[in-house]
Amino acid sequence: MFVNVPDAAQLENTALRLYFDAWERTVSLYNDFCDVFPVAIEEVGGKHSFSEEWDEYVGDAQAEMGAICAIIQQAAEIRLKSIICSVSPYLLLLNSEVPLKMGEADLDFTSLRTLDAVDLPRAVRTMTGFELSDSYIQRYGELRKLRNQVAHLGQHQGGLSPSVLMVLLGQQFLALWPDGRWLSRRTEFDGNSARRFFHDDRYSSVETIVMAELPSTRALLDNETFNKAFGVAKGKLDGFCPDCVSAIARKSGIDAESTAYRTGEFTAHCAMCEVDLQLSSASEGCERCNSLLEALVVSDDSEPNVACYGCGHG
Ligand SMILES: [Zn+2]
Ligand SMILES: [Zn+2]
Repeated sequence: MFVNVPDAAQLENTALRLYFDAWERTVSLYNDFCDVFPVAIEEVGGKHSFSEEWDEYVGDAQAEMGAICAIIQQAAEIRLKSIICSVSPYLLLLNSEVPLKMGEADLDFTSLRTLDAVDLPRAVRTMTGFELSDSYIQRYGELRKLRNQVAHLGQHQGGLSPSVLMVLLGQQFLALWPDGRWLSRRTEFDGNSARRFFHDDRYSSVETIVMAELPSTRALLDNETFNKAFGVAKGKLDGFCPDCVSAIARKSGIDAESTAYRTGEFTAHCAMCEVDLQLSSASEGCERCNSLLEALVVSDDSEPNVACYGCGHG
């Protein structure tokens, strides 16, 4: 029999890890520059007093950005395989020679040739109900060529920039994860699961890292991409979730970020932990922001977390 047959959910998890690894490295390219030169992250790609330094920085970063492109492409291939695998893993063996069993030995799936990367988008279209747009398939082909330059030559033909990577990342997420849920996926697959071992929730936690990144995420994703990926417009993601605020490591010095949005007059939803919140009017305004709205996590817990919906103050 076959052994080591791939599992669709595990392939998807790997694809998300690679995707968010590329994401984190791309955001760092921006932040490393903007931490030193006083330019707003959303303006750094345009004209400003440090444009020359930015251009030089981007020139020097070509090799690293080529490597990031290879990770983005790898994430796409594995995600496309997971989509095919969700119908049947054996479809991945199409066009390959499967030696029919002679002896007692098991057949190791991982030793068999699976569909070529170049064929994956058309295979998804043919064998699954998943919709891939023509424009995505074209971009996939371009990215694959770029990846091959990096993989076979160790170089590419220049012209990469952090904003090109950002557009690739945005388009890829919407094409391959059309149901969005960006923020909860970002939190679950934070790109470096090994680091979780060290999180003590006092000095560090996953939520701390993702919240610290959130202002950059808002600035770097364009409105339309943000809207589709987060499931809500930037301006409407304005409420604070008691659970996510309390998950920030207290000694990290990181400010809470809004991760929730209104779904009704007295209801809201957190895009980060995906819990529903019940809102109520407090008798006194919040001592920090004056808001009268209090958020309560809807749960079976006898003592659910409560915090100010306007600023997260507990
Ligand atoms: Zn939350
Ligand atoms: Zn408040």
